[in-house]
Amino acid sequence: PISMNDPIEERRICVCVRKRPLNKQELHKKECDVITVPSKCVLLVHEPKLKVDLTKYLETQAFRFDFSFDETASNEVVYRFTARPLVQTIFEGGKATCFAYGQTGSGKTHTMGGDFSGKTQNVSKGIYAFASRDVFVLQSQPRYRNQELEVYVTFFEIYNGKVFDLLNKKAKLRVLEDGKQQVQVVGLQERQVSCADDVIRMIEMGSACRTSGQTFANSSSSRSHACFQIILRRRGKLHGKFSLVDLAGNERGADTSSADRQTRMEGAEINKSLLALKECIRALGQNKSHTPFRESKLTQVLRDSFIGANSRTCMIAMISPGMSSCEYTLNTLRYADRVK
Ligand code: ADP
Ligand code: MG
Repeated sequence: PISMNDPIEERRICVCVRKRPLNKQELHKKECDVITVPSKCVLLVHEPKLKVDLTKYLETQAFRFDFSFDETASNEVVYRFTARPLVQTIFEGGKATCFAYGQTGSGKTHTMGGDFSGKTQNVSKGIYAFASRDVFVLQSQPRYRNQELEVYVTFFEIYNGKVFDLLNKKAKLRVLEDGKQQVQVVGLQERQVSCADDVIRMIEMGSACRTSGQTFANSSSSRSHACFQIILRRRGKLHGKFSLVDLAGNERGADTSSADRQTRMEGAEINKSLLALKECIRALGQNKSHTPFRESKLTQVLRDSFIGANSRTCMIAMISPGMSSCEYTLNTLRYADRVK
């Protein structure tokens, strides 16, 4: 187990990038890997270009992030430098968020650990599970043991501006905002958990619910945001909250010119929510008094996590290494660059 005594980063916003390995199909097609990670913060994209005389050359662009993880980094290492420092935040009464951003197939769900297809392995080795495990580690430490903190989890999906409860058979939920701008997801199931194994079962249940009835080709999971939350309460009263969000594939935001009306509307909604998310994180990082959370359901539901002195966030931008993904990879990196 990871020691919880490492220094805690004080920054409010942390932006990282993770490159996955080339997969079997890409290797089979002999696709080039266009990404290199020369140091722990820098990432290079070598984009193939053609000169006027049709000779090929590589145009290299450099990006700098808080951390850059290459294809050899494990989920546990990624967790350690991204979400783990935020676990402490919720024990101190704060709000934390961690976002997995990127193109479909780039490794968001793999990193978060929300791909349950009958194998507990997959969910127990992702960020949801690692964070939950550390919540119980901290809960039992002397400084927090006497605080009578109870742990709860929720798991829901936001699809096309609507909220569905993944721990309650995808029940459709209403979102209400009261006069004091407090946002509430009405009827969202909060399940009390008392050990890491309890949480694993919840992640399995929610993940299975998320992907049920989907074929790969028609997967709505690439068009929805999945949000797993760990909530600390003391005698029922909210103490801290950690929201871990597996975002919709960012390439879907470009579906706005699709011939199909439904796809077009979904694309517009995804575009809107990812733009709103960027603005809300920037507002948090710059300590702005105005947070444009009403622009999308995603940011509205996470409103209380973007305000307050003790709110912190981490974004992990996932990228595919293949040449055919180059354009989307650059989009992802530019977005992540804007957030920090
Ligand atoms: P996304 O959720 O972004 O659409 P997935 O997490 O489903 O993408 O990843 C697509 C495929 O690539 C999955 O089969 C997954 O197991 C694999 N994969 C993703 N990231 C990694 C990684 N870092 N190492 C090994 N396999 C990975
Ligand atoms: Mg996914």
